Amino acid sequence: MAVETLTRRRWIGAASAGLCACWACGSVGAAARAMVVHDDQDQVKALPFQLRGRFAQSGYCIGRTRAGATLSVDGVIRGQVSPSGIFYVGFDRDAAPTCLIETHCGPFVEYARLAIAPMTYDVQRVDGLPPDTVTPTNPIVLERIKREADLKAVAFSSRVDADWFQDGFVYPFKDFIVSGHFGNQRVLNGVPKSPHMGFDLAAPVGTPIHAPQKGLVVLAEPDLFYEGGLVLIDHGQGVISMYLHQSKVIARKGNILSRGDIIGEVGAKGRATGPHLCWRLKWTDRHMDPSLMVA
Ligand SMILES: [Zn+2]
Repeated sequence: MAVETLTRRRWIGAASAGLCACWACGSVGAAARAMVVHDDQDQVKALPFQLRGRFAQSGYCIGRTRAGATLSVDGVIRGQVSPSGIFYVGFDRDAAPTCLIETHCGPFVEYARLAIAPMTYDVQRVDGLPPDTVTPTNPIVLERIKREADLKAVAFSSRVDADWFQDGFVYPFKDFIVSGHFGNQRVLNGVPKSPHMGFDLAAPVGTPIHAPQKGLVVLAEPDLFYEGGLVLIDHGQGVISMYLHQSKVIARKGNILSRGDIIGEVGAKGRATGPHLCWRLKWTDRHMDPSLMVA
């Protein structure tokens, strides 16, 4: 419905692909142009619908609009913006070339159609994984996987009414080697699998993992089948970051962490060939590259 109503509006916005833009420094440029329609008088006028972020596949944008507005992305209602008018939109690994963002507040509608830059992804072969972690067949293991999937689904449904994500992330620790990029097509023990939805930071077992930004811990499990020690943090509006393969989980479900607080320690638990942190980021049903949130 939202898309159809566009036909009766004059489009004066523009869009651009690209990387970081910042509303504070005024470099948002064309990507942030949007418009407001005042339905009562059918007036059309430009207003600052502010956006910044990484306008590319696996990226994201953070916007500012009217407090109390409802967010719609590609015609799907995504809930209310934060009390101060901040919202988040993630772009999938294989996001379409354009993304339509709308905010509705009373008679006012702001919208922008963004160009999303394409990304390229490599094929990554990982060998030497325990066979039962690649293609499990044991009924007891399958039951465990199902139980753990249910746990994660509940955590992923979290949506804290906050905008703690708005200042971006810092890396969970300083010294690491990137051992796996986001989006790589994976072949595990020779078997093609779904793409890698994480950013892997290799570091010694026991390396402390720090919260990259303020957030509510919505899941903290010491030893899941695939993920090993796993923590999920909601940074507001369902922007959820994930920390996999931990040897020791320190955060507890329900904790509100500040940026820099310790989550746990690097490990190789779950489906992993060596010690690293698999860092992931999800918003609603979309997966993004968390490293793109680092300034
Ligand atoms: Zn990973």
